[in-house]
Amino acid sequence: MPLSFSQLNLAPNLMRAVAEMGYETMTPIQAQAIPVVIAGGDVMGAAQTGTGKTAAFTLPLLQRMLKHESASTSPARHPVRALVLLPTRELADQVAGQVKAYAKYTQLRSAVVFGGMDMKPQTIELKKGVEVLVATPGRLLDHIEAKNVSLAQVEYVVLDEADRMLDIGFLPDLERILSFLPKSRTTLLFSATFSPEIRRLSASYLQNPVTIEVARPNETASTIEQSFYSVKDDDKRRALIQLLREKQIKQSFVFVNSKLGCARLARSLEQAGFKATALHGDKSQDERLKALDAFKKGEVDLLVATDVAARGLDIKDVPCVFNYDIPFNAEDYIHRIGRTGRAGASGIAVSFVGGNNDMRLMGDIEKLTKQKIDLLPIEFPEYQPDIRKQGHFNSGDRVWSDEERRGHRAAREDRTGYAPKTFARPAPQKPIDPFFTQPYQEPTPELLASHSSPQANTHVASTRAGFSANIKSKKKVAALFS
Ligand code: AMP
Repeated sequence: MPLSFSQLNLAPNLMRAVAEMGYETMTPIQAQAIPVVIAGGDVMGAAQTGTGKTAAFTLPLLQRMLKHESASTSPARHPVRALVLLPTRELADQVAGQVKAYAKYTQLRSAVVFGGMDMKPQTIELKKGVEVLVATPGRLLDHIEAKNVSLAQVEYVVLDEADRMLDIGFLPDLERILSFLPKSRTTLLFSATFSPEIRRLSASYLQNPVTIEVARPNETASTIEQSFYSVKDDDKRRALIQLLREKQIKQSFVFVNSKLGCARLARSLEQAGFKATALHGDKSQDERLKALDAFKKGEVDLLVATDVAARGLDIKDVPCVFNYDIPFNAEDYIHRIGRTGRAGASGIAVSFVGGNNDMRLMGDIEKLTKQKIDLLPIEFPEYQPDIRKQGHFNSGDRVWSDEERRGHRAAREDRTGYAPKTFARPAPQKPIDPFFTQPYQEPTPELLASHSSPQANTHVASTRAGFSANIKSKKKVAALFS
């Protein structure tokens, strides 16, 4: 029985924001976590991406902070009271966006700080005072050291994607940050898995947490239709283009394993006429946010991404995810396909399985997700030149220039991914100079003399045995330059 948000007794200004987002019923993590946090308890949540966990920790925090709401412009009236720590810039940006949306009708302020950006604008915002601070650990420490922010009044801390933060090596930074916080506070920890390290972190920093597990870790959402195609590495691009067309997929994430492969594939898809952008670690922060924004606005159809760059991205309604390369870590498969089929929407996940290495990696996915994978074949249609679509080509209405014909052929090859076998006319043969087909002859003394004699230079070449009419005597050429 789905639970409605109205059962929570949230403040009307928060309910208004929830209604504006279009949510009526709570997701399981929301239904379980929100009442605990409102009552002041710590939470240790195992929730996969896409379960609605951001609202599960944001709404109760805002609800509890409403008592501190102030219309004053004084920074002293807006100290940091809630701190949300996340592993990546994109995730921080995204969560900050959601916090802003839920706090829209309140006087509570929020800000986000992450690395790779100028510190100055972040400093200005921090100095004005914010109640909710969303941050990545490294940049937050920079601001603490620069005395741009004080954490002495923090009442709520959220460690989101805690397993990722530990993977990245943020534990020392987290420990330092937590040492600046008051001991009496609410602490929430969310993680895809509860590894021994996560349990240790929880034991040190959470007090009697309520454990909430909404989906078994490593379980893929049932709303995602997963298919695996056996495709030779060289045919992957062609297969991708064919499936995009066949399944009429408008927008999609395409995952690759390397930065170079990412840049190349995006480029080649662009050349094939798709609106594609690469998202990888070598892109500047600004470029990455712009790419994301363009994708969200629908200006870009294919976001070609590496795992690190795409971690934690929440872009709604991505109808499809392609695993152009099978990920090296089976867990990344779960994270990748978690971009589609979010919050109950249906999605498609297509994976291309190439050589032996891919077969091994696919075996890891089978084990992790406890599902049997059947490989599908992919067939490429034979190329059939469609005479009618070539317009006036053969109708005699119009004579096409060779250049136009070449241009059309190149465009078709790019669109379809395959090249017609017979199409171009044979290039016109240049007349062959008979000189090059003659057997070699030793020059006779007369011939050498005539070649160096100034008088012999006129009209002599064509009459000289063994010399081509196309070879002019040296002196005559030299005379042209003098
Ligand atoms: P999250 O797990 O927080 O990244 O959320 C995944 C997606 O679900 C986000 O796009 C949210 O906007 C959306 N979402 C959150 N709560 C709900 C809800 N109760 N009903 C429908 N969608 C939701």
